[in-house]
Amino acid sequence: MRRRVKGSFSTRRFFLKIDEKSGIPLLGHIAFGVIDRGTNLLQIRATTLCALSCIFCSVDAGPGSTTRLTEYMVDVGYLLRWVEAAVSMKGIDKIHAYLDAVGDPLTHPGIVSLVGGLKSRRWVETVALETHGPLLTRELAERLDEAGLDRLNLSIDALEPGLAKRLAGTPWFDVNRVVDVAEYIASSLNMDLLIAPVWVPGVNDEEIPRIIEWALDIGAGKRWPPLGIQKYEAHKYGRKPRGVKPMRWSEFWRKLEVWEEEYGVRLRLRPEDFGIRKAPPVPSVFRRGERVGVRVVYWGWLKGEWIGVARNRVVTILGVEGEPPLGMRVPVRIVGLKHGIYLGKILA
Ligand code: SF4
Repeated sequence: MRRRVKGSFSTRRFFLKIDEKSGIPLLGHIAFGVIDRGTNLLQIRATTLCALSCIFCSVDAGPGSTTRLTEYMVDVGYLLRWVEAAVSMKGIDKIHAYLDAVGDPLTHPGIVSLVGGLKSRRWVETVALETHGPLLTRELAERLDEAGLDRLNLSIDALEPGLAKRLAGTPWFDVNRVVDVAEYIASSLNMDLLIAPVWVPGVNDEEIPRIIEWALDIGAGKRWPPLGIQKYEAHKYGRKPRGVKPMRWSEFWRKLEVWEEEYGVRLRLRPEDFGIRKAPPVPSVFRRGERVGVRVVYWGWLKGEWIGVARNRVVTILGVEGEPPLGMRVPVRIVGLKHGIYLGKILA
């Protein structure tokens, strides 16, 4: 079950394949499985891996990560069973399936079967996937299209190749290859394309209008809006580019309004634009402050964490050091349970 993928005495990294046999549930963790934020959209996270090391990455993914300890990959059949279980616990008829990740969903070798598996379920209304596209090829786009992918949310943060490499923190990253596939999707495939640049103030300001013009030119957004400009935010465990201060939300919305007028396209998006509405959440199995015995199952996603299982949910165990005592039950206090993500602080 356990395999080291990279390491020295100072930077140990682990890799875990999660399947039925692992006994690890797929509700409760932010990095893998199913995330339900109380709407009719479920985030489905099959992998944590990423090939890039974007300088603004909010989840510190990729080879340049300094905070991660473990990368996880989930078996497709097992994941589909948990998505179905989550839908049934929510008690709703239809969901939008959104394949995102604290990495790049396209790093999962079974991503096409995951899309196809979701599309074949009567309770799935649409399937969308987000990526920065370093692994995207015309052939992969065709296979995703045939499997029924409804929309690709493609983040292109700069069209200028040198700046795109710099933003991706990856010298081999070639934005022109991604642009080529994007144009192919917009002109020749059924799936829709939404271009979702991350606007990093002071770094790619001049690229955003260029990207808007290009997205409109190639015909992105046939069924949904063509663009979803994302605001750079400084996250606690994310990477923060030197000298960059996040923009104020008021300033961000004002600028989007100006571009909306200039280009005649809606850029200030709302959940309703994607058919997202509030829906009953998967019921919580813990209460905040509750003391729970948690069985330790593996190293945590980030340094200083283990993962454990209790009441058929994963719990991130905080405040720990060293090797996880696999199979042992440890006492924790539930200190976080937002959106069904469970955090427990170990008790002495
Ligand atoms: S922003 Fe996305 S593509 Fe870039 S390193 Fe993070 S997860 Fe990977």
